[in-house]
Amino acid sequence: MSVELILKDLNIPKFEGKTGSDITTFKIGGALKNLIYVNNKQKLSKLLQKFYEEQISYTILGNSSNVLFPDDEIHNVIIKLVEEFSNINKIDENKFQIGASTLMPYISNTFEKEALSGFEFACSLPAELGGTLYMNASFRGQNISDILESIEICMPNGDLQIINKDKLEIIPKQIKIPKNSVITSAAFCLISKNKAEISSKIRENKEFRQRTQPKGASCGCIFKNPSAEAPAGMLLDKVGLKGTREGGAMYSTVHANWIINDTLKATSSDVKKLIDIGKEKVLKEFNINLETEVVIF
Ligand SMILES: Cc1cc2nc3c(=O)[nH]c(=O)nc-3n(C[C@H](O)[C@H](O)[C@H](O)COP(=O)(O)OP(=O)(O)OC[C@H]3O[C@@H](n4cnc5c(N)ncnc54)[C@H](O)[C@@H]3O)c2cc1C
Repeated sequence: MSVELILKDLNIPKFEGKTGSDITTFKIGGALKNLIYVNNKQKLSKLLQKFYEEQISYTILGNSSNVLFPDDEIHNVIIKLVEEFSNINKIDENKFQIGASTLMPYISNTFEKEALSGFEFACSLPAELGGTLYMNASFRGQNISDILESIEICMPNGDLQIINKDKLEIIPKQIKIPKNSVITSAAFCLISKNKAEISSKIRENKEFRQRTQPKGASCGCIFKNPSAEAPAGMLLDKVGLKGTREGGAMYSTVHANWIINDTLKATSSDVKKLIDIGKEKVLKEFNINLETEVVIF
C-alpha cells in the first residue's frame, strides 16, 4: 500500500509546498515531499501501525529547532503532531500531563501563572515538549528529565505505552526510547512556589539568553559538550574557529559552538563542512572526538 493510500484511508492530509528551510530554525533544507500533520492519538496509532506493516520509514519532528535537513528534495515521510497533542492537563495535586506538541515557552508561561516551579528553564526554548524530551534539553544546569515522572509513547506497531522515569535510560542530551516510537505526552511533578520567585528566575533566564546567545538562524549548539571541564564552545574557540565561514554559514563570533546561517543562504553542505572542520581541528589539537548534538537527516 502506498503512503498516499494510507493517508487517504486515515483522512490525514499531506502538506504540499513546504521546505526544510520554511520549517527549521536553521532555515535550511529542500522540498518536503511527504510532510503530514497528525492531530490525534488514534490516528497516529493507526498510521504507525500501517507504516509498520508496509515497512514505510518516517521521521517525527517537533519544532525543528535541532535538525539539519539535506538541500535536495526529501521524500521520507515527515510527521508533525498538532492540535490534540498540544495541551496541559492536571492529573493530581501539582501533577500534569502535557501533550508532545505543546511549545516550551507556553508551558513555562502557564506554570508561572499557576505559581508552580519546574519549567522556568524552558521559558525561551524554541521547542516542543516531544523534541525537548527526546533531546533531554537543558539550560543552565537543568535538564527536562529532572522534573519528569513518565512518558507516553506510541510504539511502531501502534501500541500506546507509559514508561516511568526509572525505566528510562537517561543520558545527557538524550532520553532513550524504542526506535521509531513517538512521544505523545509526558507527566511532570511540579513544586508550589512564590510566584514572584518564579517570575524572577524566568526574567533572569531570558536576560542570560539575550546576553549570551548568538543572533541569527541556527540550531543552538552544534556539538555536545564532551565534559563539563571541556565544553565544546571552549575547544572550538581555542582552535580559532569563531568567525570561520563556509558559503552562507559561519561559526558564531559570539559563541563558538553555534553555527549560524546569518546570510539565510547557507546550504546543508556548508554546515556539514564547518562541522567537519571543527571535529578535525579539535581532534588534532586536544585528541577529543566531538559528537554532533544537531540531528542530521
Ligand atoms: C535559538 C536556539 C536556542 C536553543 N537553546 C537550547 C538550550 O538552551 N538547551 C538545549 O538543550 N537545546 C537548545 N536548543 C536546541 C533545541 O531547541 C533542542 O534540542 C530542542 O529540545 C529540540 O526540540 P524540537 O521540538 O525543536 O525538536 P526537533 O528539532 O523537531 O527534533 C529533535 C529530535 O527529536 C526528535 N523528536 C521530536 N519530537 C519527537 C517526539 N514527539 N517523539 C519522538 N522523537 C521526537 C526528532 O526526531 C529529532 O531527532 C536551541 C535551539 C535554538 C535554535
